[in-house]
Amino acid sequence: MKRWILVLLVVLGVALAAPLVPALSVTVAPRELVPAQAGFVAVGGAYPLNVSVTLDGEPLAVYWTGSGYLAPFAFDFEQPPGEHQIVISAANPATGERLEETETIRVVEYRYPEEYVALAFRLTPLLNPQLNLDELAQLDAIYALQTQPVHWGWPFAVPAPGSVVTSRFGGNRSYNSGVWSAYHTGTDFRLGVGGPVVATTSGRVAAAQMFEVRGKVVIIDHGYGVYSQYAHLSEVYVAPGQLVQRGQIIGLAGATGRTNGPHLHFEIIVNGIPVDPIRWLALYPGFIPPREIDPERDGDGEGSPGEGEVLPPPDPGAGS
Ligand SMILES: [Zn+2]
Repeated sequence: MKRWILVLLVVLGVALAAPLVPALSVTVAPRELVPAQAGFVAVGGAYPLNVSVTLDGEPLAVYWTGSGYLAPFAFDFEQPPGEHQIVISAANPATGERLEETETIRVVEYRYPEEYVALAFRLTPLLNPQLNLDELAQLDAIYALQTQPVHWGWPFAVPAPGSVVTSRFGGNRSYNSGVWSAYHTGTDFRLGVGGPVVATTSGRVAAAQMFEVRGKVVIIDHGYGVYSQYAHLSEVYVAPGQLVQRGQIIGLAGATGRTNGPHLHFEIIVNGIPVDPIRWLALYPGFIPPREIDPERDGDGEGSPGEGEVLPPPDPGAGS
């Protein structure tokens, strides 16, 4: 009998000493990134806790998702290789208890290919640097708004179902012998004029308008600082403020703006930074990447980005 009382006391003691904050489950994905790639910190735990996440000491926006907390992060093209510390702190405001966890992620060396692009003469006014900077500033103003989504929608879908990638994200492009140079901030899909373009996942239309370089564009706000952009469209079927679902047709592909031919230019933007869309989509387990064009099999020329014909790199020995 005495022994049972002892057992009971031990059990009670353990129960009383147990933390009232349930054990944190922390997911950081991915742990290894390249420049211009995004990831997220997900914290599973009881609500309400005060959760804060820092990346190298700088606070990340943390969102309550209904089943935990989410803090997306992104590195830009200029990010040098190196390690980064993510510190996750959770405090229970009722008890004052605090837990802290540190995770390390790594940006690895990655060189995006240099691309030399020839643009049709009629499109050369669109290489004006100031015009390009103004358009990027307009886009930045749209992406600056970080919202709580109506419905957060993993997985993200390929916006041109069944299509193939004609130009990867990230090419370091020099247009018409250096008139303008910029990274390719999206992934290009082969679609003819009128090809259906679908929302990568649910969200609210943030913009549906004409831009000079990107042509007719739809931008969708998915919440938590994550946006998608669909450019060079011929038709737009949605209006700003409208809610859209994953797979819903939002417009038709086209060749508006600075492009030599019809295709879909698709971007994912996280915390204002354009990141590799395919790597973002691939964060969801089981994602099947779209096929990429094979110049050998698919005929030459078709592998070139619709935004301009890719030329071979200049020969440094040519002396011109
Ligand atoms: Zn593109």
